[in-house]
Amino acid sequence: MEVYLSENAFVGLLVSTIEVYQKECFGILLGHATPQRVVVDFAVPYQTAKRKFREVHIDLGRSRRVDEAVKTASRWELVGDYHSHPMYGEVKATTKLSKVDQQFFGEGSISIVVAINDIARQQRWSYVKGGSLSGSINGYSIRITAYHKMNGQIERALLLCPYAIGFLERKVES
Ligand SMILES: [Zn+2]
Repeated sequence: MEVYLSENAFVGLLVSTIEVYQKECFGILLGHATPQRVVVDFAVPYQTAKRKFREVHIDLGRSRRVDEAVKTASRWELVGDYHSHPMYGEVKATTKLSKVDQQFFGEGSISIVVAINDIARQQRWSYVKGGSLSGSINGYSIRITAYHKMNGQIERALLLCPYAIGFLERKVES
C-alpha cells in the first residue's frame, strides 16, 4: 500500500502536531482511496479528541457522522486518521503503534503517526528505512509513518510526499 501526502496534508500534519506539543493531537484524513494507493489531500484536526499525554480516545459514532458529512459536502472521503506521539520528558517519541492505537485501528483504513522530539540541529527532509518520512522544523525533529489495516492485519504503508523531500526550513527574514 502506498500513501501519498499532498502539500496541504503534510503542512496540516505538522501544524497540528506542533500546535498541541507536548500533548497528542488527533484528526482525520480526507482524500481518495484505491486498493493500492491512498491519496491524502487534507489533515483535519478533531475538536473532540481528549488530549492526553499518552493516548487519545476516539468516539466511533462521531467519526461515522463525520464520514457521512464529508461525503455529502465534498468530493473527498474519510480515508483514515492521524495522531502525534510527543516526546515525554526524557523518553524519545517513536511512530510505533501503541496497544490502544492497534485496538482503535479501523479496518480498511489508514492511520498516520507523527513522532515529535526536541532536537538541536536541522535535518533535511527525506525518506527513511521502512517507508517513513523524517525531517526537522523549528527545533523539532519529526518522523511520519503511515499504517494500513486489511483483513485484520496492520502493516506499514510506503509514505510518499514529493513536496517534503529535500525541504529544509526556510530562513525567515524580518
Ligand atoms: Zn499512538
